[in-house]
Amino acid sequence: MREKLPLLCLGSGAALADGRNWSSLLIDRQIILDLPPTSIPQMIRMGVDFARIGHIFISHLHADHMFGLPFLLLEYCIRREREDPIHIIGPPTIEQLTYQLCDLAWPDMRKHGFEPRVPLVFTEVSKEGEYQAGNLAFTAVPMQHFTLDAFGFRFEYKGRSIAYSGDTAECDQLDRLLDGADVALLELTHPRECADPGHMDSLSFERVAKRLVAQGSTVIATHMSAPPDPIPGVTTCEDGKTIWI
Ligand SMILES: [Zn+2]
Ligand SMILES: [Zn+2]
Repeated sequence: MREKLPLLCLGSGAALADGRNWSSLLIDRQIILDLPPTSIPQMIRMGVDFARIGHIFISHLHADHMFGLPFLLLEYCIRREREDPIHIIGPPTIEQLTYQLCDLAWPDMRKHGFEPRVPLVFTEVSKEGEYQAGNLAFTAVPMQHFTLDAFGFRFEYKGRSIAYSGDTAECDQLDRLLDGADVALLELTHPRECADPGHMDSLSFERVAKRLVAQGSTVIATHMSAPPDPIPGVTTCEDGKTIWI
């Protein structure tokens, strides 16, 4: 039997939520799925070794998914340093926006010679397809999140296929992303019925989850505005919780 991997829930909340951290998941202490500001203190609380983080996937350019980057890079300006690169994967302009955000967040840092002491390697995804970031090959699939460039990601990692929706409404691409995945990480913004063209609600989530559970996938819900009622076969993220996948 293959060894289980830890999935650390750094946050489980939607942009507007009930007090939980914004959604952010850390797989095997190496791969981060979305990086809101609350992830940095949560990683410190959970004893995460920052030096092991190799990849950060940013599903789209909303603040609850990427505004943690200036806080992470501040760590590397002041009290951390490393030679191995961090791969940052995201929609077009993610590289330019990362530096813009840092300048906005810490306007005097660069002036005084502080630069992040970590090599950053960016991979920008613009359309559905196969990509490579360092030693990790992945597939990007455009999701339905209002009119934004928003991507779901899927990759093989230590013998299992892991798929992550980011923010999306129910759509054909979502089925394509998640079908047959060993682990399906799916947003559940509205744990009650709610017509929202850019997010899942309890009805659409249950439809998708039911099919995945029947296929034998491990289904995990995140990006919630409030706690959902239990859904058969589905594990729900909670801040600070570790789920073994
Ligand atoms: Zn969001
Ligand atoms: Zn969003």
